[in-house]
Amino acid sequence: MDVAAERIDRLHDLARAAAADGEDDRARYYVRLARRVAERNRLTLPRSFRRFTCDSCDAYLRPGTNARVRLQDGHVVITCDCGSHARYPYEQ
Ligand SMILES: [Zn+2]
Repeated sequence: MDVAAERIDRLHDLARAAAADGEDDRARYYVRLARRVAERNRLTLPRSFRRFTCDSCDAYLRPGTNARVRLQDGHVVITCDCGSHARYPYEQ
């Protein structure tokens, strides 16, 4: 794993911890930083990062708190509090 990927990993952890503490703005800040690091280094964000962040408002999503999760036609549909939906194929 290179330095940029490690940095993204660390920012993901920080975002998750901030979100768990109810610090949504701080979580969003880490999410944005991680996106910037990925962009600058032409890295793809890890799947778990993409799943738990909102593409529209950069919130770190916590199902049951600031996001709703539904299963529909073999897809997972995540709705952020900002109203944005994300669909992913359902995987075990
Ligand atoms: Zn959102």
